[in-house]
Amino acid sequence: MGRNQYGESLNTRLIVGFILIVLGFLAYQVGFSFILRQTELMIKYITMVVPESYPMDTVGLALQFGGGIVAIIGFLLCVSSLSTRVVTRIQEVKTVTEAPPVVSGPKCRFCSGTVGADSAFCTVCGKSQK
Ligand SMILES: [Zn+2]
Repeated sequence: MGRNQYGESLNTRLIVGFILIVLGFLAYQVGFSFILRQTELMIKYITMVVPESYPMDTVGLALQFGGGIVAIIGFLLCVSSLSTRVVTRIQEVKTVTEAPPVVSGPKCRFCSGTVGADSAFCTVCGKSQK
């Protein structure tokens, strides 16, 4: 149950990271093309958000840098959520391999611990079974 919630939050992180990459990339592209070619339409849209007195080159640069940073954050989110998933899987494998081997054999006469099939001594208390 706890693990399911954990997995869901990882998925959310992955999705958010992916959205950030896309948005950041878009902002970067807009900023880039804005620096190259400032069309009337673009200026019209951008002055809806940014005051017209701002130097438009700076706005383009800010879009580029901001978009780049947002995309990097999104990328890091994706990577961290994926690597956490791998680590969780490795830990799961570890727990499975570290689980004590199932020993089937006769029980000790003294402590009822398991005694190896071809062993004369108890593995728990060490007493002879003969
Ligand atoms: Zn014993």
